[in-house]
Amino acid sequence: MKEIELADRVKQLPPYLFARISELITEKRNAGVDVISLGIGDPDLPTPSHVLDSLAVAAQNNENHRYPESDGLPALREAIARWYSSRHGVTLDPDSEIVPLIGSKEGIAHLPLCLINAGDVSLVTDPGYPVYEIGTMFAGGRNVRLPLLEANDYLPDLSAIDPSDAARAKILWLNYPNNPTGAIADLAFFEKAIDWASANDVLIAHDLAYADVAFDGYKPPSILEVSGAKDVAIEFNSLSKTFNMTGWRVAMAVGNAQVIDALTRVKTNIDSGIPQAIQEMAITALDDPRDSIESHNQIYEKRRDRALSVLRELGLTVSDPKASLYIWARLPQGVESSADYAAKLIDSVGVVVTPGASYGENGEGYIRISLTTPDDRLDEALVRLQEFDSKR
Ligand SMILES: *Cc1c(COP(=O)(O)O)cnc(C)c1O
Repeated sequence: MKEIELADRVKQLPPYLFARISELITEKRNAGVDVISLGIGDPDLPTPSHVLDSLAVAAQNNENHRYPESDGLPALREAIARWYSSRHGVTLDPDSEIVPLIGSKEGIAHLPLCLINAGDVSLVTDPGYPVYEIGTMFAGGRNVRLPLLEANDYLPDLSAIDPSDAARAKILWLNYPNNPTGAIADLAFFEKAIDWASANDVLIAHDLAYADVAFDGYKPPSILEVSGAKDVAIEFNSLSKTFNMTGWRVAMAVGNAQVIDALTRVKTNIDSGIPQAIQEMAITALDDPRDSIESHNQIYEKRRDRALSVLRELGLTVSDPKASLYIWARLPQGVESSADYAAKLIDSVGVVVTPGASYGENGEGYIRISLTTPDDRLDEALVRLQEFDSKR
């Protein structure tokens, strides 16, 4: 049969990080191995029951069986505004500064369609969440990678950006608390970034997916807490990690009204919004978080502490993450490749971790361990990691 000629943008796609890992897991499981994955950042804890109850009620309402509006229920945009006000002290206009998303991944992938012309630049961090780059590539733009180095606390050095790249840049992507490094940024860094973006006419797209997964009493800030931020920034936020709702696909972009309007118009031409019953569920979660966030964070914090002590025994260098679902661990001296290290771990003890190199070349020499595995399985994985060490 004749082969179909696919577009360059598809041919240029790197193999999706998690797809490759899932393939490896399937292969091992088929061979009878009891594989434990510490690879994927997807909360194992359930969506809070009062949130599920509201979905069950909303599902019965006939009005929710029809097409939703692309820009979301006004009541959801109002609930998002209340959340930003009470959580961050940030005032948002529900009609012009908020658009609900079918998960923030969707909005992140579509934002470059609003800003990038052929040859325009997106500044992305390396290591970083792969979707920032892909969206720009789909839009015909070019990605310039800013290294995130341990020596700089995994913050990009904005003064090191090549002036010719800065001149072509349309978007600067930031993500704190950070996936994969677990690093955090304070308001002083965000202020510097906003100043740089204003001076260079670049939009900052800040990904705050881990806004409410934090430990030791730490409360991650929104970049919109910086005064004047709305002139040059939008922020992605999501119910996925905050409320264990990755499966329901509900998130938001907030901030600069002109960009929110452009994103809404792009989306109107692509999707028909979030199923309304799920929007109602999101309103319940945002308006009545009760103590679910606190209790989830206590579970992750305990897992973090147990994992950190074992990883240190193994000779990995780790810093205490104050937020995110991840431990970013530097491999012992002499270990060359994070992919080889991860493959060896699966082969010899059936434990999956993510090789740092899959987040960019500056991730080489590190692995990422996710805290979203049930306690007993995490403990079993940690025992196996100790065995792995003794076999080497
Ligand atoms: C999990 C995650 C998201 C959230 O994705 P959703 O599509 O909202 O589920 C966004 N950015 C990063 C960096 C993430 O790790």
